[in-house]
Amino acid sequence: MSSLDNALSPALAARQEAHLYRQRRTLESPQGAEVLVNGQRYLNFCSNDYLGLANHPEVIAAFQNAANQYGVGSGASHLVVGHSRVHHELEEALADFTGRPRALLFSSGYQANMGTINALVGRHDFVFQDRLNHASLLDGALLSGSRFQRFTHNDPQALEKRLCEAQKKSPDSRKLVVVDGVFSMDGDEAPLKAYADLCQQYGAWLMVDDAHGLGVIGAHGRGSLEAAGCSLADAPVLMGTLGKAFGTAGAFVAGSEVLIESLIQNARNYIYTTAIPPAVAAATLSSLALIKREAWRRQHLQNLIEQFQQGLKGLPFELMPSHTAIQPLLVGSSEAALHLSEKLRDQNILISAIRPPTVPEGTARLRITLSAAHSEAQVQQLLLALAVVADDIHL
Ligand SMILES: *Cc1c(COP(=O)(O)O)cnc(C)c1O
Repeated sequence: MSSLDNALSPALAARQEAHLYRQRRTLESPQGAEVLVNGQRYLNFCSNDYLGLANHPEVIAAFQNAANQYGVGSGASHLVVGHSRVHHELEEALADFTGRPRALLFSSGYQANMGTINALVGRHDFVFQDRLNHASLLDGALLSGSRFQRFTHNDPQALEKRLCEAQKKSPDSRKLVVVDGVFSMDGDEAPLKAYADLCQQYGAWLMVDDAHGLGVIGAHGRGSLEAAGCSLADAPVLMGTLGKAFGTAGAFVAGSEVLIESLIQNARNYIYTTAIPPAVAAATLSSLALIKREAWRRQHLQNLIEQFQQGLKGLPFELMPSHTAIQPLLVGSSEAALHLSEKLRDQNILISAIRPPTVPEGTARLRITLSAAHSEAQVQQLLLALAVVADDIHL
């Protein structure tokens, strides 16, 4: 074995031993309610394609047409020569959709979060984050070198205590409060209005990562801010991803003219990376049109969530307090979560076992995601499969 492999091997073995080893499945079909893996059909309850747009004919056609017009690669970063008309149109459409003056495209949500936090705060500033925030937000704060504090999940009082201390210690420092709108592994929603009020009171800025809310929640699918009745003044920084409900790829930040111009000047994860392919932007314009036009997708998804929660009532699973498309079943040990996931796979149902360090120790879970692409019959099939494995929950 090489010196490199020798150094790395023990950690891999330990991970395997602890039932924490991560493995990929190779898909042989488009994303959808049913997927093909190793020649086998599975009912898919783990994608983030919440509205069933990743393989929508209109979105595909928009992608194909734009590929004919613009080619495939964007060829450069936005600031060099990679910013095409269709990227620009998408930014305008996203600004309009979110009711904000401007929007800026990033290559991924991870990049958007890293770049934005780093453009807004530095060594002398404070960042406050919910403990369960997405890894990209935590990493963004770490990289910024700012004074970084985490507070108890969905707890405005815990945040207030920290804001209050920071204000006393260092009244002139910037204070950025960062939360997920919908928490990716729990499915619950942040109390955004309460946070917005605290930010107002302590002169802090609220940044919301709405990867799992945009397109899905709010009366018009405009996400967590719409659902919570928050304005631009309440939450001046909104981050959204395009790889989930939009069914494409990439991400954006929406806010004021000054915010967006500042990101263009300073966000390194924006400046030093190749723009997403123009055809992806065109496809996203098409999926945005569907999000606006086809409210039935949100309604159908809501009905499925209701059906799932009702159906689970007779079963010994612990549902987490979520009203969204993310409906995790708390299991506890990684071994049991993995075992249940395998037993479900034997019944041709795909559900990921989410384990530490993605979630806190002792809270491994089956992360079930529902999509407008599912039918009621498919959710019924899921419930039947869960009933079959129910005895295995306390392994
Ligand atoms: C998926 C996700 C991201 C990252 O977005 P990508 O476009 O996949 O890089 C960021 N934040 C949250 C909450 C997410 O769920």
